[in-house]
Amino acid sequence: MPSSRPHIDIQEHHLRIGSVDTVTLAQEFGTPLYVTDEQRLRENFRTFAGAFPGADIYYAAKANWNLSVLRILASEGAGADVFSDGELYVALLAGIPAERILFNGNSKTRHELQMAIDAGVRVSVDSIDELHALSELAEESGRIVDIAFRVNPDVSPDTHPKIATGLATSKFGIGYKDVLQAYEVAKELSGVNPVGIHCHIGSQILDVSPFGEAVGKMMDLVEQITRLEIDLEFVDLGGGLGIPYQEDLKAPTPADLADMILPIFEERSSAIGISPRLVLEPGRYIVGDTGILLTGVNTVKRSAKNFVGVDAGLNLLIRQAMYDAYHEVVVANKADLMMEELYDVVGPICESGDIVAKERMLPAIEPGDVIAVLDSGAYGFSMSSQYNGRVRCTEILVNDGRVDVVRKREDYGDLIAKNVMPARLLSA
Ligand SMILES: *Cc1c(COP(=O)(O)O)cnc(C)c1O
Repeated sequence: MPSSRPHIDIQEHHLRIGSVDTVTLAQEFGTPLYVTDEQRLRENFRTFAGAFPGADIYYAAKANWNLSVLRILASEGAGADVFSDGELYVALLAGIPAERILFNGNSKTRHELQMAIDAGVRVSVDSIDELHALSELAEESGRIVDIAFRVNPDVSPDTHPKIATGLATSKFGIGYKDVLQAYEVAKELSGVNPVGIHCHIGSQILDVSPFGEAVGKMMDLVEQITRLEIDLEFVDLGGGLGIPYQEDLKAPTPADLADMILPIFEERSSAIGISPRLVLEPGRYIVGDTGILLTGVNTVKRSAKNFVGVDAGLNLLIRQAMYDAYHEVVVANKADLMMEELYDVVGPICESGDIVAKERMLPAIEPGDVIAVLDSGAYGFSMSSQYNGRVRCTEILVNDGRVDVVRKREDYGDLIAKNVMPARLLSA
């Protein structure tokens, strides 16, 4: 295994994660099975936080909002970037302090805004309509809400178009030219107190220079906002640091990101004469490589291609279908055997696009083998569905040989739990 994944190794032909044999896990808990390594999770958080001393790290909950994952990160001192009422609910339940939570979202409901007010979290306001709604609700509640504006910095990172979020044409944030006016409006409104500024340029970004461009543009705004006599307490530059899904990908480290951002941030802050806190919102970097998806082989079919039919597909990991993403796959019970044949590993979902891994050289595969899909910790389970009437699988947490279930496998009852059958259909 590559040194970029120190928590994963091979022993007696078996793949291990956190010193736990994945083949044994598959036997014990069945497949499909998501497995997360606690030590790697803590380590990733510490590496990221360590690169930005004095900054606040708001973990982007959407990447993986398993309660135990959030609990572990809370214990490491993480805050959270939440994007919905549900993520806010889970983050608070996990023990992330309200003062370290930022409520994001481009189309929040009044219910969500009220929930943010009641919880006492800060809100990243995405539009003038939202600003007015929030002001009105806060006033009715007799509260003053600390806000930032989500800025669209018009920066174009080199990533998949579906995860570039800071282009001028993206749905997120207030247009760069309109931001100052938004702060002027907010300053005069009751119930809202502008204390921060926020952007997020995209995800899986492998070249840190767009972050440099973004921080420069943000600090230009900070300077102008400060002239409006608004004291900005924080500057939030979002998440987006990429990870090396492919071994030959050279991914920047948090230290590389810090080298790009910090000098500009610090120099510009002191030139303006303020000392706002820096906030970052990593998601993928924190959880991406902590998780693997174990999936069992049902069939091997040789026709135009060699198809390996496994029991997990886009219902549990949609990244390949949605973002043309690449995930390394390893035959967990033959982890160091010779690569013999070219395979397409395909899921069980009734979609031609349900392909786990395309054209990979793997050891000879037969039914009963277990395939590990690496780096599935971010945007894996959190984007899962019950499509095709498939229950969501068990989630396991490992830590240096220890094994705990952190989410039980769903059952058929979960598929229909919220269905309501009108009585007239029963009697028909
Ligand atoms: C998704 C998101 C993040 C996290 O992005 P990663 O690429 O996972 O680091 C951070 N901030 C906001 C506002 C987001 O929407």
